Amino acid sequence: MPIDATQPYDPENIFAKILRGEIPNETVYEDDAVLAFKDINPQAPIHVLVIPKGEYVSWDDFSTNASDAEVGHFVRTVGKIARDLDLVEPGYRLLANIGGNGHQEVPHLHVHLFGGRPLGPMLARG
Ligand code: 5GP
Repeated sequence: MPIDATQPYDPENIFAKILRGEIPNETVYEDDAVLAFKDINPQAPIHVLVIPKGEYVSWDDFSTNASDAEVGHFVRTVGKIARDLDLVEPGYRLLANIGGNGHQEVPHLHVHLFGGRPLGPMLARG
């Protein structure tokens, strides 16, 4: 079920549990403020989720409430992860789902990083 992007942060969401080490993950990158791990249900040969460690429900919450330093570090780190995965020359896709129409299911901000094959048009019709 898609979430409401304006809901308060739920510390029991699945990515909060991953951040606390209560649920295993296949980590691709980690620093003090960012964790990147493989999606459990990959939609492309490379499908990585990049999340801030801070408690932000959605891109809307993050872009409103995170500091310039947090936002800057997160954006630069997403780019670094893509470079480290050698995705720049073949190309890749970033996606953030927000709220109901965006079909966001996990209420902790995450950016999907897709790569490893031609990804086709941006959205399926329908
Ligand atoms: P959303 O629809 O919220 O943008 O995407 C949530 C993503 O989280 C989905 O692609 C889903 O496969 C992934 N996901 C959900 N639960 C887990 C989990 O426990 N571990 C990992 N690695 N990915 C998860």
